[in-house]
Amino acid sequence: MRIVLLGAPGSGKGTQAQRLQSEFGIPQISTGDLLRQAVADDTPLGQAAKAAMDAGELVSDEIVLSMIKARIAEPDAATGFVLDGYPRNEAQAAALASVLEEIDQPLDCAVLMDVDFDILMKRLTGRRTCSVTGKLLNVYFSPQAELDACIEAEGELLQRADDNEDTIRNRLEVYSSQTAPLIEHYRGLGQLRVVSAEGDIDAVYQRLTAALSSA
Ligand code: AMP
Repeated sequence: MRIVLLGAPGSGKGTQAQRLQSEFGIPQISTGDLLRQAVADDTPLGQAAKAAMDAGELVSDEIVLSMIKARIAEPDAATGFVLDGYPRNEAQAAALASVLEEIDQPLDCAVLMDVDFDILMKRLTGRRTCSVTGKLLNVYFSPQAELDACIEAEGELLQRADDNEDTIRNRLEVYSSQTAPLIEHYRGLGQLRVVSAEGDIDAVYQRLTAALSSA
């Protein structure tokens, strides 16, 4: 299974990609995660990407393409992958298509995780990661017991550097102007599936797997 998860920041792509990874044994490939790791490791690539990430802008197509190419070539991606956060504009979609054509592994489909714009803000401003377990949580939506479990494990609820209001607003604008056109791109190719990504994480996951099994 080779799929792209499309959707605005906060639409739950990362959460659902992690579930697909554990259920289907195919890796979640998140350019955002790869870039954050490069920034944390202070690599030349991370240094080149940091300013754009802090501002909520897109990092250059060349940088993300080199990362994606290397990651897709790793052995664990041989049987498939879930792309989370890539492609993010038309040029990246074209680059991805030619990389996959070269290795004769076309996409099965692109799934749009559809969420009302108003809900996205709460999801993004409330988003936290437990420093001990790595679990993704939300101070507005997670059960209190899950938030308490992180604190009891002596963890901290960490907020991503780019989850502040100004950067979030910019990331949503970048999504609308540059990434949302990919919805029509994949629809035109007959590869688009649309999943309502509002409500309970389990319910969204069920809708997602149902959409994938019809792909
Ligand atoms: P994400 O975790 O997917 O929301 O990505 C966080 C940030 O990393 C984005 O706001 C961009 O600055 C950068 N980024 C992630 N994926 C891409 C991509 N495919 N193209 C360009 N920049 C990206």
